Amino acid sequence: MKTITGIAVAPGIEIAQAFVLEQFRQRVPHHLVVPEERPGELQRFEEALAAAQADLAADHERAETDLGPEAAKIFEFHLGLLQDPTLLTPIRAKISEDGTNADFAVASSFSRIIDQFNAMGSQVFRDKARDVLDLERRVLDHLMGRSEERLSRLNKPVVVIAHELTPTQAASMAIEHVVGLATDAGGRTDHTSIVAAALGVPVVVGCHAITEHVNDGDQIILDGQAGQIIIQPDEQALEKFQVAKERLERFRTETAQEAEAEAITRDGTRITLLGNIEFPREINQLLEYGGEGVGLYRTEFLYLTSTEDPTEDELYEQYSSALKMLDGRPLTIRTLDLGADKHTQQQALEPERNPFLGLRSIRHSLRHLPMFRRQLRAILRASVEGPLRIMFPLITTMTEFKQARMVLNDVADDLREEGVAVRPDIPVGMMIEVPSAALMASTFAREVDFFSIGTNDLIQYTVAVDRSNERVANLYSAANPAVIRLVKNVIRAAKRRGVDTSLCGEIAGDMTYTMLLIGLGLRSLSLVPAQIPRVKQVIRRVTLDECEKLARRVGAFESQRRILRVLREETKRVLPEADGGWNAD
Ligand code: PEP
Ligand code: MG
Repeated sequence: MKTITGIAVAPGIEIAQAFVLEQFRQRVPHHLVVPEERPGELQRFEEALAAAQADLAADHERAETDLGPEAAKIFEFHLGLLQDPTLLTPIRAKISEDGTNADFAVASSFSRIIDQFNAMGSQVFRDKARDVLDLERRVLDHLMGRSEERLSRLNKPVVVIAHELTPTQAASMAIEHVVGLATDAGGRTDHTSIVAAALGVPVVVGCHAITEHVNDGDQIILDGQAGQIIIQPDEQALEKFQVAKERLERFRTETAQEAEAEAITRDGTRITLLGNIEFPREINQLLEYGGEGVGLYRTEFLYLTSTEDPTEDELYEQYSSALKMLDGRPLTIRTLDLGADKHTQQQALEPERNPFLGLRSIRHSLRHLPMFRRQLRAILRASVEGPLRIMFPLITTMTEFKQARMVLNDVADDLREEGVAVRPDIPVGMMIEVPSAALMASTFAREVDFFSIGTNDLIQYTVAVDRSNERVANLYSAANPAVIRLVKNVIRAAKRRGVDTSLCGEIAGDMTYTMLLIGLGLRSLSLVPAQIPRVKQVIRRVTLDECEKLARRVGAFESQRRILRVLREETKRVLPEADGGWNAD
């Protein structure tokens, strides 16, 4: 038995066999084929290629059913590559002219592309290299007769163990038999983790070297709450986790039954619980969990999953369908947050040395005005269909906010001149995700209609820790006293000026922080839909006075560990049956 601890991304406990996703290059035989056998060898290649294309098309279809059409578009890049003559023509020539065996012709041609991407140095190209590696494996699996092993053909539940996954690969895990996911690399709030969490299975990332310790078929306990993986557990561990799994399932059923209940403290303070979504289709689930609207719609995912930028009409369709599904509930649309770890297919031809400090988010939008204006036109056209709010991400200076709002006003004027109806009173807000904005909150409060505190980024910029780097994940914590002080500063500044404030970082869904956030003065949280019921349970068990006392108490501590310990103890005190149901570190 061996226990490995990683970073908890999505809760749940699963006990199943491991399926180790082979991610290293496989050994491929090399030999020459005599001229009379070359047509047959070429035929073998064409059949393997067709089978790999069919697999991809099936994965595309499955992702479409399970994750929706937007997420499925991620496979279109792959399908395109598997039909690209610049890749296929040299393979065919190697087989029929040089007499290279099909397996080696495939491996050597794919290698060339993989090496070229890897040599480009940036993470974006390394991601592309992994995607190409995945395609190579799909073709080789068919050529080398290993297709039976493919994940999609499994007929028993498995926990997938991988070194590192691209968002595309994470999306392809949306299959019935995959009941959990654990990877060596990654951080809780990175792009792959956000896609993986949407699968609804427990996910643990940042385990460093789990692939070195697990063999295919090993029994695994995956605890997505504690961020733990137990390999080949003994009887005692199995019993303990079986009980924990049943308790968690009971807790989930009970909390789900409370979806209709109001999020109100014992002494009558009402907390608004909104949802974070990436695609409109998540709204159904959000409403089932008792969400009262959308507090963060991450609109860039449509760009990430398409091979081409969406048109204004496509964007309009997305936004207006979201408003229709919400049926009168509020929709907070965040404008594009591209850059850093979120790149479009066409983007990133000029990789940045320090992308998280580079041309990302609102900076990217202000530098790519036609793209920004197209999005704003679509948002404004949809505005007449329901209570929509607009917020700009990663605002660091007042000039940026004013520029963004000027572009918005200009786009609204154009539309009105064209005779297109635009709602006149759309609230315009900003995300507080960097220390400069948090420190200047009282100045910003004069200009904005609302704030949304994005702690995922606020933490990384305050403590100088890359949110997707597992090597420094222990330093990335909302319990850092500097982070708490900044959040408190924003809430106070906003309150003085009567500016509506919500918090939409991952901690909004982590019940360890619920009492603290209420105690600091927040009355609105935006969180992953599935986390709404348990956060609501905490709210319904506490009084405002208890929360305020707790906020004052931890406000005086200087150590992150001590703050976290007290927050956990308090959460456990008010909700003992949720034992382990939090993931803060
Ligand atoms: C944040 O930074 O807290 C946030 C909600 O935005 P994202 O996770 O999309 O960067
Ligand atoms: Mg952010």
